[in-house]
Amino acid sequence: MRAVVDKDTCISCGLCVSTEPEVFEFDDDGKAVAVSDTTEENKDMVQQCIDSCPVDAISNGE
Ligand code: SF4
Repeated sequence: MRAVVDKDTCISCGLCVSTEPEVFEFDDDGKAVAVSDTTEENKDMVQQCIDSCPVDAISNGE
């Protein structure tokens, strides 16, 4: 499973990128993108990003 960011919704606030930088990075458009799968080790931080995104742009994905 890998988190999915809705690029049209992301406002590039940086919260997810700073909270879990091993999963979320900014792409060339300055929007967040998940670059790693969700694992047992990072799933709590990924969920924290999902819950904290101010515009609800992140979903768990498949
Ligand atoms: S927390 Fe949400 S709005 Fe902020 S950079 Fe991440 S996906 Fe974009």
